[in-house]
Amino acid sequence: MKSRKKIYEGKAKILYEGPEPGTLIQYFKDDATAFNNKKHDVLEGKGVINNRISEFIMTHLHTIGIQTHFIKRLNMREQLIKSAEIVPIEVVCRNVAAGSIAQRLGLPEGQALPRSIVEFYYKNDELGDPMISEEHITAFSWASAPELDEMMAMTLRINDFLTGLFAGAGIRLVDFKLEYGRIWDNEYSRLILADEISPDSCRLWDVENNEKLDKDRFRRDLGGVTEAYSEVARRLGIMKDMPKLSAIEGGLK
Ligand code: UDP
Repeated sequence: MKSRKKIYEGKAKILYEGPEPGTLIQYFKDDATAFNNKKHDVLEGKGVINNRISEFIMTHLHTIGIQTHFIKRLNMREQLIKSAEIVPIEVVCRNVAAGSIAQRLGLPEGQALPRSIVEFYYKNDELGDPMISEEHITAFSWASAPELDEMMAMTLRINDFLTGLFAGAGIRLVDFKLEYGRIWDNEYSRLILADEISPDSCRLWDVENNEKLDKDRFRRDLGGVTEAYSEVARRLGIMKDMPKLSAIEGGLK
């Protein structure tokens, strides 16, 4: 087989040159990292599940008019995507206090926030992805003011839609991280949703017992990481052949 040109390798994904100009192939690895790469492990099958969950979510987002980089899933670990110029910002949307906001503001984990809150972080591993304000984003031209408004509006719309989608599966969407990219058409550009949406980039809790079904299982050494990701897929109706969580010996702790 002709070897493909690797364009970029990240912590959990690899991007290869696509079959046509303007396309890329996004490959989902089994690698899991946390705490800015200080914690690393390989979780067999994680990439396969995230590929399917992200496909499912992006496809649903298309039905409500959100444009994304997703074109189609190619196989177990790969999807064809549109090549976009990534905006160097991580957009986090929160509904419930957890993780860094709970720590920073001294909020009890699990407390519902007064309203959904959108935060921005500068994508820079060396600096540990520092939190930034809208002022920083426009002053340093990481995104224009209209782009910022659009990212904010798209993020809140995605939050509303995903909150409902997950609620229907008995899952509370606590928070999540999005990345956006620009697609150029001569001198005009438009923003599309890029990267992935999966239990690696969301906090997902069981509505009944607050069991964590996301990457916090890895970050906090709770075990059963891929089992939890499979459970999310199963509840969403993806991978119907996945075993029920209760059928996995010991379930989740
Ligand atoms: N997140 C992510 N990538 C990052 C940082 C955060 O996907 O580099 C996600 C994380 O999984 C959670 C949300 O963004 O769903 C908010 O994360 P938080 O700021 O609480 O940071 P963390 O607790 O991960 O340090």
